[in-house]
Amino acid sequence: MEHIRNYINGELVDPRSGVWLPSFEPATGAVHVRVPDSGVADVNAAAESAAAAFPQWSKTPAEERSRLLLRIAELIERRANELAADESRDNGKPLRLARAVDIPRAAKNFRFFATAILHSSTDAHATDATAVNYTLRQPIGVAGCISPWNLPLYLFTWKIAPALAAGNTVVAKPSEITPLTAHRLAEICIEAGLPRGVLNIVHGTGADVGEAITKHPGIPAISFTGGTHTGARIARTAAPMFKKLSLELGGKNPTIIFADCDFDATLDTVVRSAFSNQGEICLCGSRIFIERPLYSRFRDAFVQRVSALRVGDPLDEKTDQGALVSEQHLEKVLGYVALAREEGGTVLCGGERVALNGRCREGWFMSPAVIEGLPFSCRTNQEEIFGPVATLMPFDDEEEVTSMANSTPYGLAASIWTSDLSRAHNMAARLHSGIVWINCWMLRDLRTPFGGMKQSGIGREGGWEALHFFTEAKNICVKL
Ligand code: NDP
Repeated sequence: MEHIRNYINGELVDPRSGVWLPSFEPATGAVHVRVPDSGVADVNAAAESAAAAFPQWSKTPAEERSRLLLRIAELIERRANELAADESRDNGKPLRLARAVDIPRAAKNFRFFATAILHSSTDAHATDATAVNYTLRQPIGVAGCISPWNLPLYLFTWKIAPALAAGNTVVAKPSEITPLTAHRLAEICIEAGLPRGVLNIVHGTGADVGEAITKHPGIPAISFTGGTHTGARIARTAAPMFKKLSLELGGKNPTIIFADCDFDATLDTVVRSAFSNQGEICLCGSRIFIERPLYSRFRDAFVQRVSALRVGDPLDEKTDQGALVSEQHLEKVLGYVALAREEGGTVLCGGERVALNGRCREGWFMSPAVIEGLPFSCRTNQEEIFGPVATLMPFDDEEEVTSMANSTPYGLAASIWTSDLSRAHNMAARLHSGIVWINCWMLRDLRTPFGGMKQSGIGREGGWEALHFFTEAKNICVKL
């Protein structure tokens, strides 16, 4: 069985503890790799190596940094099939999703930031005729990057690529639940010739490795994606040290469907937006509001489509819904289906554990659930479930749906479906949401600000926002 290793100072090394944790394949429920149970000593070694590499890396010309990051992108693409298979086995997601979305996007993250730094410019402010100011954006030093299990390589590289491109060195921790593609990235960085210490990857639990990164006095910036509760904990630790913080947290995203929408296009995408990756995407639309005249027609067609989704072995090309990431997470999601029933909801389809045959008989599968009859304010409609569960609610007018959509503590993403674009623009401006899609979902342009408001986080990733986060702005004033 493969033993994953940490990547510190340019080498693959064992954890100081000499202890490895089991990492499971969700589709089979069996251990498939072992992941280092690292701790403070490993993080200290990684931070030391990153600090030692910083002076040279931050002075490396942008063109050379860009060349190395593009080389990493190329190697990801060259190993795309293997990486997609690793991602699917580690996370439980359908292989064809990993092949179409996760791995190409990881390569794109490197390409995007590698080329962005070749086109950056700076601000200048003339103060009447008395002075000229210009702004330098300098790398911060060692950046800490902590990412979750749902889109493992995709989100890991979404942080690492801008941090490195901006001239920082990095200590990164993937989720211990899905460590495999981060390990492959370490192999790729070695092959690409990334200088020692520029990127360090420490595997292990959040409580040990994540905390050690957050607390480390030599890591002045933390970019974190994960749950709101963990984000709050990180903020409590980092705030008194005045660390720069980017927090991309949970969501409970509304999908708002008006009667004048393009029915077929809406139906196709809303099935996807609710259930892609088993609903384990922070952007999934789990609360579906439907204008009353369309409610029954949309509900019936939606339930028919969702019931037809094939739950199966993630490695099977015909599978639509793979396994949930862990047994504990499966139990949590099934617990929410039970809660929905207690709260008076009617489960229209799914919501049951699914037993498969063959190699997947012990896997963590469930059928995607559609629920109606719940008030917008109940726990099922307020708390993040992060699984294949969507609720349907009718609405009568824009006022009502806006206030229901805005009623949760979250504010990450929303989608609006209508052929009345004036209405769509007006609503988009009123939604408490960092991202609003009109007649589409997860249509991404990497230049746009990405992130949420309220308990969905602080700060934005993507484009210049990310490069600004990973730099300090310094104003230089010259008297004329
Ligand atoms: P967690 O918050 O549990 O974990 C995220 C990462 O933080 C993991 O690497 C985890 O390690 C680590 N971690 C856990 N505890 C600590 C700690 N005390 N200090 C530092 N790091 C810690 O989230 P999940 O992995 O369960 O991911 C699901 C969540 O992520 C959902 O809420 C989802 O909405 C959110 N998410 C948000 C996105 C966004 O862009 N806004 C995108 C994708 C997901 P380990 O796993 O090893 O315990």
